[in-house]
Amino acid sequence: MNTFSKIQNQNRGIVMDRRLSPIKLDSYQPLREVVCESLREAIRNGVLKPGERIMEIQLAEELGVSRTPVREAIRKLELEGYVIMMPRRGTYVATMSIRDINEIFEIRTALESLSNGLAAERITDEELEHLQRLLVIIGGYIADNDIEKIVETDIEFHDLLYHAARNTRLVGVISNLRDQLTRFRTLSMSYPGRLEATLEEHRAIVEAIAQGDVNTARKAAEMHMENSEKTLLQAMEVVNKKQAKGKKTSKAAKEK
Ligand SMILES: [Zn+2]
Repeated sequence: MNTFSKIQNQNRGIVMDRRLSPIKLDSYQPLREVVCESLREAIRNGVLKPGERIMEIQLAEELGVSRTPVREAIRKLELEGYVIMMPRRGTYVATMSIRDINEIFEIRTALESLSNGLAAERITDEELEHLQRLLVIIGGYIADNDIEKIVETDIEFHDLLYHAARNTRLVGVISNLRDQLTRFRTLSMSYPGRLEATLEEHRAIVEAIAQGDVNTARKAAEMHMENSEKTLLQAMEVVNKKQAKGKKTSKAAKEK
């Protein structure tokens, strides 16, 4: 899905990045539902980035459908809070406020800490071995700078940790909080130095759990969340500055 093949828009001579896979038309679901799901996934995975302008015509071309189901899907995604439609200014992938992010991390830090503490008491030998294996795998992907694989394996790593806590309700609540931030994963992970730091933080978590040290495991999780939040906010600031700059230059160009 994430292959950046260039396609030529012959009508306007614009080269666009094709990032979405064409819709399979043999689906039993109504087309607008399939389009909606595909766009929702693209936003959650960060393929369509927070703050990015959404062009109906471009999405329709990439998905290989007409504009009508795309328009309907966008309207639905607006109700779900994934996109924002601004009169006369266009449609954008919704960003989150700093306050939203603070709120999510406040709860998540507490729950990740709880989960890690429980995992330190309840993890099985096989799970521990699996965690250690994942650290090696993530290290390899970092060496290859394969962000997509890193994000994927990071999710697997945390899923395994949640599972090791052996509390299904806790898993449900944490997963929901994590989902709300999924679309920022790529942005965070691309921030300079974050990959290496993440690996170190994961190592600290695994070490504490391996030793059955509940307090250190909890602290390691809290530290990991604190740093994740800090990085995300810094990365968002960079994006916001770039956008502000972009707006200024396009305004200046118009005024000429
Ligand atoms: Zn992590």
